[in-house]
Amino acid sequence: MPTVSHWINGQDVPTDAGTRLGDIMNPATGRVAGQVALASRATVESAIASAAEAFPAWRDTSLSRRTAILFNFRELLNARKQELAEIITAEHGKVVSDALGEVARGQEVVEFACGIAHQLKGGHTQNASTKIDVHSLRQPVGVSAIISPFNFPAMVPMWFFPVAIATGNAVVLKPSEKDPSAANWIAELWKEAGLPDGVFNVVHGDKEAVDTILDSPEVASVSFVGSTPIAKYVYENGTATGKRVQALGGAKNHMMVLPDADLDLAADAAVNAGYGAAGERCMAISVVVAVESIADELVGKIAERTRTLRIGDGTTEPDMGPLVTEAHRDKVAGYIDAGEESGATLVLDGREHEHSEGFFLNPTLFDHVTPEMSIYTEEIFGPVLAVVRVPGYDEGIELINANPYGNGTAIFTNDGGAARRYENEIEVGMIGINVPIPVPVGYYSFGGWKNSLFGDTHAYGEEGVHFFTRGKVVTSRWLDPSHGGLNLGFPTND
Ligand code: NAD
Repeated sequence: MPTVSHWINGQDVPTDAGTRLGDIMNPATGRVAGQVALASRATVESAIASAAEAFPAWRDTSLSRRTAILFNFRELLNARKQELAEIITAEHGKVVSDALGEVARGQEVVEFACGIAHQLKGGHTQNASTKIDVHSLRQPVGVSAIISPFNFPAMVPMWFFPVAIATGNAVVLKPSEKDPSAANWIAELWKEAGLPDGVFNVVHGDKEAVDTILDSPEVASVSFVGSTPIAKYVYENGTATGKRVQALGGAKNHMMVLPDADLDLAADAAVNAGYGAAGERCMAISVVVAVESIADELVGKIAERTRTLRIGDGTTEPDMGPLVTEAHRDKVAGYIDAGEESGATLVLDGREHEHSEGFFLNPTLFDHVTPEMSIYTEEIFGPVLAVVRVPGYDEGIELINANPYGNGTAIFTNDGGAARRYENEIEVGMIGINVPIPVPVGYYSFGGWKNSLFGDTHAYGEEGVHFFTRGKVVTSRWLDPSHGGLNLGFPTND
């Protein structure tokens, strides 16, 4: 049985008898498929030390050399993405084509980072004051840690490391212990692309690894993605030790459907965004906010489409695969129990399915959900779609803005004025207009509001460049005798 180990300073770290190990499951069969090393404090410290040692030379490597390696990485990734997708499916369970989609969205950020030279151009002002010039520059922060969740084992790390590396930082990635292999595959690809050893390191592990990162004075920045309680913990503890932290948390994404919407388009979107990747997407739609006058028709269309979905082993290209672990599957099934007990109308019951092995649930649809029910208040992170009915637009906005999460949202309408009002009034970071999963392209930035993001900097795009660099402003004067003399006043411009 394979054991996935850490990747430090350009090589695999062998496990020994004292290494703590965790199981890697195959979610489609429910059987143990391998093991992953869980790093001790000392192992994480050695990865941080390796990054710290590699950092100065990498920071001082020319932009053209750094960019050439980025281009190599992009070419290798593009040529071999099928391998990565298959690794993701084996451990996460999602359908291979969906895994390929995740890689493609990560690759967008690599492509953005290939143009980093443009992003790092500073400003220059000649003669800001008489014979005084001013220019600005941005420099890498140092050792950048990335802590990522199980649901996108390739894309989420790729939201960060291409920009971190392109801007001259050295990285320590701590991926989810549930699907660790993608990170090692990526590490080997970096080596093949020509990245110097130590610039990209991977440590596997759990809370012990995360706490070591948070405590380390050598780590300058932490980019975290995961559930809200852990995001808050990472933000509070990381900033307490002086690091810059961006911690992206959980979500409850609402899709509002107005009476003038194309209901077939809206129903397709609700099914795709609600049940794709078994609902294990941070941008999944988990709540459909239906205006009462069209709610019956919309629920009918969603149910009709959902009944046609094929659920199975992700390697056989069904519509939807299993959930990631048995514990998670049982937790999601527990929410279905709770929804039924609280009086919501169970239109489709995902607990009824024909799979005898693996961590499967079929898609579940609840109608007449109300805001105090746990299936509304909590992030389920599974294939469970809740329909909340509202009298009209204003009540819909009020409902969504009262929700503590603010990651993504969508509105379905043919009324441009309503859509325009929605983008202005909604308190959510990423908005789709007739687009159910509005993940921004690589040259914009990804991030939510409220409990979906702790810290103020979104991932990738210009905000990513800002996060991974520190600014300097240089004010310079080349000696000129006319500027001599004593003057203890505060410098002003003339
Ligand atoms: P998680 O919070 O359980 O784990 C995320 C990371 O934190 C993992 O690397 C894990 O090892 C580590 N971790 C877990 N428990 C910890 C603890 N007690 N102390 C320190 N570190 C700990 O999240 P998950 O289950 O892997 O991923 C699903 C969650 O991630 C969902 O809530 C989802 O909404 C969220 N997510 C959010 C976004 C976003 O963009 N906002 C994107 C993807 C996933």
